[in-house]
Amino acid sequence: MSRSLNLAVIPGDGIGPEVVAQGLKVLNAALPQDVKLETKEYDLGAQRWHRTGETLPDQELEALKGHDAILLGAIGDPSVPSGVLERGLLLKLRFAFDHFINLRPSKLFPNTATPLAGRPDIDFVVVREGTEGPYTGNGGSLRTGTPAEVATEVSVNTAYGVERVVRDAFERANNRPRKKLTLVHKNNVLVYAGHLWKNTFDRVAAEYPEVSTDYLHVDAATIFFVTQPERFDVIVTDNLFGDILTDLAAAVTGGIGLAASGNVNPTGDFPSMFEPVHGSAPDIAGQGKADPTATVLSVALLLRHLGHADRAERIEAAVSADLAERDGTARTTDEIGDALTARVSG
Ligand code: ATP
Ligand code: MG
Repeated sequence: MSRSLNLAVIPGDGIGPEVVAQGLKVLNAALPQDVKLETKEYDLGAQRWHRTGETLPDQELEALKGHDAILLGAIGDPSVPSGVLERGLLLKLRFAFDHFINLRPSKLFPNTATPLAGRPDIDFVVVREGTEGPYTGNGGSLRTGTPAEVATEVSVNTAYGVERVVRDAFERANNRPRKKLTLVHKNNVLVYAGHLWKNTFDRVAAEYPEVSTDYLHVDAATIFFVTQPERFDVIVTDNLFGDILTDLAAAVTGGIGLAASGNVNPTGDFPSMFEPVHGSAPDIAGQGKADPTATVLSVALLLRHLGHADRAERIEAAVSADLAERDGTARTTDEIGDALTARVSG
């Protein structure tokens, strides 16, 4: 546990700066007094691109490397062609810092609107592989734009890549009270990748006798997310399945205003990055309407990642208490941030 925190802050676009400001307020209140917080803001995102044509210059990438962690608001604006900021900034960061774990906790907080009202506890975390699968840009198109077009999108799965994410998921499961890990894939149809995932999973499982394991095809998993979400504790899955499952998970646990995430490199060789799952929400930007809770919960993930689990719990308890007392009265971004800050301090 480090006694200083050198944080990079990328407020980004739309509601990003609004929610990040609240996240930082809560972070300041939550940190132990003897931990010195230093923050450096990076001007990256749509405005920067419009001004200079730059997404993430190598010099800033180098500078980012020197931080303990990164807090990101949101990146993206309809005025920027699709893919420019995703590839030039977000994916560039993910690959440069080898963020092979995409962490998405899903917890049903009290008094939270969920389509599964009346369900018992939902408290699971999806560990999604972040650097392989069908998202590596391998593939191509033949006879593009003709009626005879053929497009391929190759899913890349390496023994190295699968093993490291599976190991990370077993570690996380082993550190939670229920100690249960579910592998989600589709190995009845995607036989080659499925074989690698299942074999790796079974081999690593032998090293974790205390963790109970389960396997589900992804289609079955979507059913259980809705009908029996309480059966899940930790889920490990590939990049594409994880992308879809985590949005479903956010939907059943109160929506995108509450969903936090981490792009994590657990080796500590590079800074990990924490961000709300929602985007820049240009429709409500600048109006003080954005709910900063997802960002505040992302700050909790950041603190847990850096060894301050007690402080993370304090933030989560503050969120839980704040949600329990919500009565539908509209509050501004700032008011919610202040309420959470007061609870964390108090
Ligand atoms: P992106 O492409 O960046 O993921 P998106 O088009 O998926 O963006 P979001 O920015 O996530 O969209 O917003 C989706 C909807 O949810 C919008 O109507 C937005 O206003 C709302 N929304 C998103 N985040 C929040 C928030 N923190 N508080 C309140 N409403 C939000
Ligand atoms: Mg989106």
